[in-house]
Amino acid sequence: MKRIYLDNNATTPVHPEVLDAMLPYLKDEFGNPSSIHWAGRHPRKAIDDAREKVARLLNCDASEIIFTSCGSEGDNLAIKGVAELKKDKGNHIITTKVEHPAVLGTCKYLAKNGFDVTFLDVDSQGMLDPDHVRKAITSKTSLITIMFANNETGVIFPIEDIGKIAKEHNITFHTDAVQGAGKVLIDVKKMNIDLLTLSGHKIYAPKGVGALYAKRGVRLSPVIHGGHQERNRRGGTENVAGIVALGKACEIAAMDMAEEMKYIAGLRDRLQEGLMQRISHVRFNGHPVKRTPNTLNLSFEFAEGESLLLNLDMKGIAASSGSACTSGTLEPSHVLVAMGIPLEASHSSVRFSLGRGNTVGDIDYVIEVLPPIVERMRSMSPLYSTVTGKGTDITFSESNSCSH
Ligand code: PLP
Repeated sequence: MKRIYLDNNATTPVHPEVLDAMLPYLKDEFGNPSSIHWAGRHPRKAIDDAREKVARLLNCDASEIIFTSCGSEGDNLAIKGVAELKKDKGNHIITTKVEHPAVLGTCKYLAKNGFDVTFLDVDSQGMLDPDHVRKAITSKTSLITIMFANNETGVIFPIEDIGKIAKEHNITFHTDAVQGAGKVLIDVKKMNIDLLTLSGHKIYAPKGVGALYAKRGVRLSPVIHGGHQERNRRGGTENVAGIVALGKACEIAAMDMAEEMKYIAGLRDRLQEGLMQRISHVRFNGHPVKRTPNTLNLSFEFAEGESLLLNLDMKGIAASSGSACTSGTLEPSHVLVAMGIPLEASHSSVRFSLGRGNTVGDIDYVIEVLPPIVERMRSMSPLYSTVTGKGTDITFSESNSCSH
């Protein structure tokens, strides 16, 4: 059976060059980078080199990179680290309703512990108006934490505008760029970003490594207390192999991004057009232009998303749905709900997230396989037959509305 992977926002395969770069640090170069003897020297040097490479991708200084274990840790360190240190000056945090749970959960935790958190709305295309950020600022605002690109829709927020607003008000600005890095150019200086989270496994490095950019002068209270590693900002013996991998992945991303993303966006558009031409009642979720080149979120109305995924899986296609199974029930995606998308459409959404390994053949296979699956599922839906039977009284004006 074919195996087609269209779930790269969940995780990516490790790039062969990344694997080659990291392997020595799982074998002969096993030393502790803090050791002053021979065994520690190469691992220390390898970490320093990786730090330079990550910094280059973001246009910052190597000393401003803190290695972490994942994106979630980076988000926790940025948000709790600033909130804790600045709480005497102000306990107000601004974020959005569509953040990843790593940010939402951290903000909700702080809200339960004496912080005042504003969760901003987005519009029906999932876009955030920077003016809403400006209006939410109070004299007590100590942190703005707003994602770079959304993991479900790919929508890219106006980060440079938000950075400018934060700077004007002297407020620390953190962005979760886990889904933006490697897909979109990021310049932390130009964008006035103070803190930025990265995750290795979304950019062809393995799971278990990430990084937080912290602008020089931005102080953080550590989340992991202990050793002196990472300039006392993150205790724990470094994951040398993972860090080397992340450095290599950032180096490759910096080199290949422009060409690779052009290629991937072409495949994504082919998939979008192919599916929307062949299947009726398809709703596009997100912003038609301001989105990452690899992400496509569609609702196949009158077909249930999880069942679609299972059927796609049976054909060897891996994608993801907008619903999450919580306590035995299917919860609609908080992102799609925040965009005002009706519950039924949320439940019928599928996210396709493409990657460097995909080919035109993969896309054409999905375009061939998915329409009959949707048709079969709809044939079992009484609502669909009622609607199509009547044919006229329910219109789907937003369906098929996205054109490039
Ligand atoms: N932030 C975003 C936007 C993500 O998509 C993810 C993972 O899906 C994370 C944070 C968490 O990253 P990690 O899996 O490395 O903890």
